[in-house]
Amino acid sequence: MTEKLYLKDMKMKEFDATVVKLDGNSVYLDRTAFYPTGGGQPNDIGKLVFGNGELQIVDVKKDGDDVVHTVQDANGLKEGDSVHGIIDWDTRYAYMKYHTALHLVDAVTIKSFSSNGIMTGGQIYKDRARMDFDMPTLNKELGQQIIDKANEEILNGRRVLVKEISRDEALKIPDLARTAPGRELINRLERVRIVEIEGLDSQADGGLHVDNIKELGKIVLNGYKNNGAHSKRIEIRLE
Ligand SMILES: [Zn+2]
Repeated sequence: MTEKLYLKDMKMKEFDATVVKLDGNSVYLDRTAFYPTGGGQPNDIGKLVFGNGELQIVDVKKDGDDVVHTVQDANGLKEGDSVHGIIDWDTRYAYMKYHTALHLVDAVTIKSFSSNGIMTGGQIYKDRARMDFDMPTLNKELGQQIIDKANEEILNGRRVLVKEISRDEALKIPDLARTAPGRELINRLERVRIVEIEGLDSQADGGLHVDNIKELGKIVLNGYKNNGAHSKRIEIRLE
């Protein structure tokens, strides 16, 4: 099992590790700070420095309990080699900000506008994020009201905390997992990782986040699309 450094220290930009398995251009390390694609958050990119060379990481995925790094060309790397991983921090920090922004918009929607809908999915990019809602009343004007409310929260600032709690505690928190697969996942886990926007929102989550919503700056409504009563899409951008 790969030790997942990114879950313990979300701000780790560099780390040392050992190559435990090599399969073509797929590199398995004993530990990694590279985030694998998951939960709407894209994988990190960056490089592995070793001996007198360096390898560009083009993809990072989960493989069971392991994390597999795909490099452009693993030629010259051997099992047992020591490597130094360097994460492309500009890209990662953008993903962290957009991930926290999605949680914030979701939280504000549930808290202030929720009587008629919920967020059903989201996708993060480096320069924007999109959210899908099952919310028949959602239109561009309501979308703007939700974003305005989220920006009020950003001005006040709230800490973002990551905790691990037991399954029993997790099952007592309403809305911790907002989808059926999320609830099933909690039922299978001994310990559940929780991302909390202090005083506003708690979600079971495996993603990476900023320390305080102040870091988000300002959220701008970048687009709205009506794909049917139960499928409304909002796109946001951070300024
Ligand atoms: Zn999340």
